[in-house]
Amino acid sequence: LQLESFKYEKMETVSHLAASISHEVRNPLTTVKGFLQLIHENPNIPREAKLYSQHAISETDRATAIISDYLTFARPHPEKIVPIDLKETIHLCREVMTPLANKQGVSMEVNHFHHNRIKGDPHKFQQALINLCKNGIEAMGTGGTLSLITHEEKEQLHVYVMDTGIGMTPEQVARLGEPYFSLKEENGTGLGFMVVFRIVEGMFGKVHVESAPSKGTKIKMSFPIYKD
Ligand code: ADP
Ligand code: MG
Repeated sequence: LQLESFKYEKMETVSHLAASISHEVRNPLTTVKGFLQLIHENPNIPREAKLYSQHAISETDRATAIISDYLTFARPHPEKIVPIDLKETIHLCREVMTPLANKQGVSMEVNHFHHNRIKGDPHKFQQALINLCKNGIEAMGTGGTLSLITHEEKEQLHVYVMDTGIGMTPEQVARLGEPYFSLKEENGTGLGFMVVFRIVEGMFGKVHVESAPSKGTKIKMSFPIYKD
C-alpha cells in the first residue's frame, strides 16, 4: 500500500511538472512564431529564407498542436472536482471553436436542454469537448454541420458531438485512443482521443463512438448525474 501511494505521488509530481512545462513553453513558442512570420513576410529576404521560415512556422504550429491536445494534464493548478455547469462549458467550447468552424465552412448547432450537472474538473472536461469538436470540424473539409447535444436519461447525462464529415471504418474506430494514431499526417498529433478517454474515465463516464465512412461520426459521452 505504501509503495502504491508513493508511486501515485510520483505520478502526480510528473504530471504536475509536465503541466508547468507545457504551460511555460506555449508563450515562447508564440513569440518564435511571430518573429518567423515577420521574416517570412519580409519582401527583401532570399527565396531559401522564405522556404526555411515556412518550414519553421509549420513546426512551431505542430509543437503548439501537441501542447493544445495535451494541456489538460498540463495545468499548473491542482485538479478541482466540482459540479460542472454544462451550459457554460458548451457555450465556451462554441466560442473557442468558431474560428476553426468558419475557416472550414462548418456551421455549429447547439442543443442544450436539461439543468442537471455532472462532476469533474471543468477545465479537463472542456479540453475533452474541444478535442472532440476539433476532430469533428477537421473531418469536414468541405463544410457540414457540427452538432453539440445534451440529453438526460434516468441517472445519466449524455453529451453528443456529431459531424457530417468523412467518418471512419470500424478498424479506425477501434484504434481511437491509441497514442499517436492519426490519419492527418503532419497535421495530427494522435493525442486528442487518448486525452478524451482518460478525462471521461476519470469522471466515471463512458465514450461511445458510431461512425461510417463518408457519412459522419457520432461521439457520445455518458456521465453519472451529480447529486448533492
Ligand atoms: P489527431 O486529430 O491529432 O489526428 P486524435 O486522437 O484526435 O488525433 O484522432 C485520431 C484519428 O482519429 C484522427 O487522425 C482521425 O483519423 C480519426 N478521427 C477522430 N475523430 C474523427 C471524426 N470525428 N471523424 C473522422 N475521423 C476522426
Ligand atoms: Mg484531434
